[in-house]
Amino acid sequence: MRITVGAASDIGQVREGNEDSFLVLDPLFAVADGMGGHRGGEVASNLALETIERLFSANEGSLTEQVELANRAVFERSQADREVSGMGTTLTAVVVRDAEARLAHVGDSRAYLLRGGELHLLTKDHTLVHRMVEEGEITEEEAETHPHRSILTRALGVDGGVQVDEGIVELRDGDRLLLCTDGLTGMVSDAQIKVLLEETRDPQEAAKRLVTAANRAGGVDNITAVILDVADDGPGGGTDRAATADPTATSRAVSTATPVEPADVMVSPRAVPLAPPAKGRGRVRAARRIGVGAGIAVAVAVVGIVALRFYLDTQWFVGVSDGRVAIFRGLPAEVAGFDLNSVVIETTIPAEEAEALEVYRETLPEGITADDREGAEDIVEQIRVDVARAQATGS
Ligand code: MG
Repeated sequence: MRITVGAASDIGQVREGNEDSFLVLDPLFAVADGMGGHRGGEVASNLALETIERLFSANEGSLTEQVELANRAVFERSQADREVSGMGTTLTAVVVRDAEARLAHVGDSRAYLLRGGELHLLTKDHTLVHRMVEEGEITEEEAETHPHRSILTRALGVDGGVQVDEGIVELRDGDRLLLCTDGLTGMVSDAQIKVLLEETRDPQEAAKRLVTAANRAGGVDNITAVILDVADDGPGGGTDRAATADPTATSRAVSTATPVEPADVMVSPRAVPLAPPAKGRGRVRAARRIGVGAGIAVAVAVVGIVALRFYLDTQWFVGVSDGRVAIFRGLPAEVAGFDLNSVVIETTIPAEEAEALEVYRETLPEGITADDREGAEDIVEQIRVDVARAQATGS
């Protein structure tokens, strides 16, 4: 099998930096979407890909094990460096060998396969809304526009361990794989992605067109697309690979605010695009117009919501659980009956004793937010002291 690559990454129209990274290290390819304040997101996505790159180059462990170690690397840096505390990243990686694509995935970046005119989603979003769809609380359609669709249920760097989704796809001549971040899929529909992938033969050009489409639809997030075209290299073809035009562009993790230059100018002879029907073109234009309108509306909501992304795992508050004061991880809120939090520690302090005090009467049931776990423990201690003092003075 011969792989021809195209890749593009862009800051988008709204964000101040590009926290996406991608890796093109044939036969390993990956995208990562970092999150976290200050430089956190950028550090997280870069560190994850650098770790994978190093382990892969040293032939250490399976792809999944490499992703697990990347998780640990991001987590440890996040713990050690206050400036990037709470950072995290998605990671969707694929290794292509012997007509087989091996996938490892955490988060809401995606892998797609375009085959025979059909676009298949190969990964599952680790998001709150996806879980809500699975549990029948909302429909797929509602999920697409749900205000909390950026909230992740799984990411690299949030915990010491991470569950990695794995998958294997048997590849065929003419297959096209797409790895992308949610800055693309949040702005451009699957139907439109499919049309653009089918219309554009050159993978580099296709990657750029996907980025352009996301920007035209509003570009509210960083956008990254990596495209792999699979071609049989004929009789006797083994694992030979296309040489890339610029090896330096294919052997390092890149996090860039500017679209990269073509990494590969080879065009697979079988990668002839299916001629889109005239109707298809009309649909693209209509979709774009709708996209711009929706993009403006969505931008207003999403700019704030993107920042919410990690709250489930990095936010802490003190509230009430089973009638007792408790420390929670997450947000003191629920979406469609789905709690955005979980109890970490239930204390022995009866909630009603705390709520008898003016200062906690309304704040405790609503949830008193803390900067971190330590902060939450401090609040609990304060409550304990206040309750004890009130009892001692009989007030
Ligand atoms: Mg993103």
